[in-house]
Amino acid sequence: MERKTNKIKRIRGYALIMVFAGLIIMYLGVFFRETPWVLGLFILIGFIPLALSVVIYFWVGMISTRIITVECPNCNRPTKFLGRVDYCYFCKEPLTIDKELEGEAFNLDYNVQHRRDKFVEEKKQKEDQS
Ligand SMILES: [Zn+2]
Repeated sequence: MERKTNKIKRIRGYALIMVFAGLIIMYLGVFFRETPWVLGLFILIGFIPLALSVVIYFWVGMISTRIITVECPNCNRPTKFLGRVDYCYFCKEPLTIDKELEGEAFNLDYNVQHRRDKFVEEKKQKEDQS
């Protein structure tokens, strides 16, 4: 199932889930405080999603230079936009900044360069035939 959410929102959501998962795993270790090595194991396993969330937050910071802000034509609010196609941060309206893809059926595949190029090529061929 494809989740219709803004990409940046989704990435942040994943990072938050990781933080909670890590904390929950570490907390579960408390039940085994009688056996130190099990407690240590829980803390170690719990540390993995926590470290991953840090990596994700760092990565969001890295890609934020590629994020552009566009005004959503549906709700008129400025939304953060990543890639060629993305959903509005607020009203989940599908948006595109690619002129070739305007008016086409929304598909997140268009964020993949070769799929997007293939689609545009096929579209041009169809136009030539008609
Ligand atoms: Zn909107």
